[in-house]
Amino acid sequence: MHTPDVEGIPVLRPQLPRTERLLPYLQRIDAARVYTNWGPLACEFEGRLARALSLPEGGVVSASSGTSALVGAILAVAGRASEERPLALIPAFTFVATATAAQECGYIPYLADVDAESWMLNPDDLLRRAALDQVGLVVPVAPFGRPVPQAAWRDFHDRTGIPVVIDGAASFEGLLELPERYLGPIAVALSFHATKSFATGEGGCVALNDIDLGERVTQALNFGIRVGRESQMAHINGKLSEYHAAVGLAELDCWAEKHASLCAVAGAYRERLAGTELAPRLLVAPDISSSYVLMFCRSAVEAERIQNSLRQSKVEFRLWYGRGLHRHGYFSALPHETLEVTDSIAPRVLGLPLAVDLSPAAIGYVAEALLHGSGA
Ligand SMILES: *Cc1c(COP(=O)(O)O)cnc(C)c1O
Repeated sequence: MHTPDVEGIPVLRPQLPRTERLLPYLQRIDAARVYTNWGPLACEFEGRLARALSLPEGGVVSASSGTSALVGAILAVAGRASEERPLALIPAFTFVATATAAQECGYIPYLADVDAESWMLNPDDLLRRAALDQVGLVVPVAPFGRPVPQAAWRDFHDRTGIPVVIDGAASFEGLLELPERYLGPIAVALSFHATKSFATGEGGCVALNDIDLGERVTQALNFGIRVGRESQMAHINGKLSEYHAAVGLAELDCWAEKHASLCAVAGAYRERLAGTELAPRLLVAPDISSSYVLMFCRSAVEAERIQNSLRQSKVEFRLWYGRGLHRHGYFSALPHETLEVTDSIAPRVLGLPLAVDLSPAAIGYVAEALLHGSGA
């Protein structure tokens, strides 16, 4: 029986490429003396990502974070909010960054409820609602890295004319798997934050097959400058430094191995809970990103009991999306529709411990605490 350290089992211990993997790339930076502004490493990183995602050259634009990738994509696709259409429709069930990015571009986030099955915004539902006349932007989110299909959103855009930018966040693995379904003319922003499975520490990118739009994203992330020194559009400084690109290139070198380790941990969780009544409610890769292991509790009461049991066993857990954006003090005054699904789901999705090197013994220990809490 595994007994954890006094500190317990942390919910996430990320691991990025070690120094020796970075060194050849860092030496290239020393030699080139280019440190940012799409230097040779950032360009190589974009090119390798584009090939991995079956996108044309120019189909991946690097960014300093997932949030800046979102801002760059929004400014390129929709521009800043207008007086006539001040609202950005976003799901209440997401990480804070989705709302932050919309606000940074001048929009008032309007929180919509998610679909009970997919945990995403449902474009057909939105089309049926009358209140789209003040909406200048929609940002569907890939919940826990479940990628957002492009087709239905292209249709939504064709019918309404409303710009769409996808917050793809942790959906890198899903995009790699089926790029033809999840990539296309709609810009998808990805996060390479340390907590994501594919990570550069801080970083992100925008992925799309529209090269002209990609160039506008680049411009939006670079002070609105395309040629010379003239700023020509709404913008931020959202550039990826060469140092972060170095981490990204080393992460790509090791990605197959890292992904296999994360999937092995997912498999070990699945195996350990197989045959128990918790098995059908364990969510792991490939259903979601391999950077999450989730227990979807039956009820708020069961979630409470499981959380108490985990606390007692010093197993750390996290509600990755909190209780919905509307439950954050800062966002509590935002306009929103009834959020029944979000209110029902959010408190029941528990993020469980994960690390590339999480031992089978530790996973067994977490499983016992879960089973004890659920009364199984
Ligand atoms: C991680 C994440 C982001 C972006 O986060 P950054 O820390 O800025 O890279 C955005 N949306 C969601 C849903 C996320 O999980």
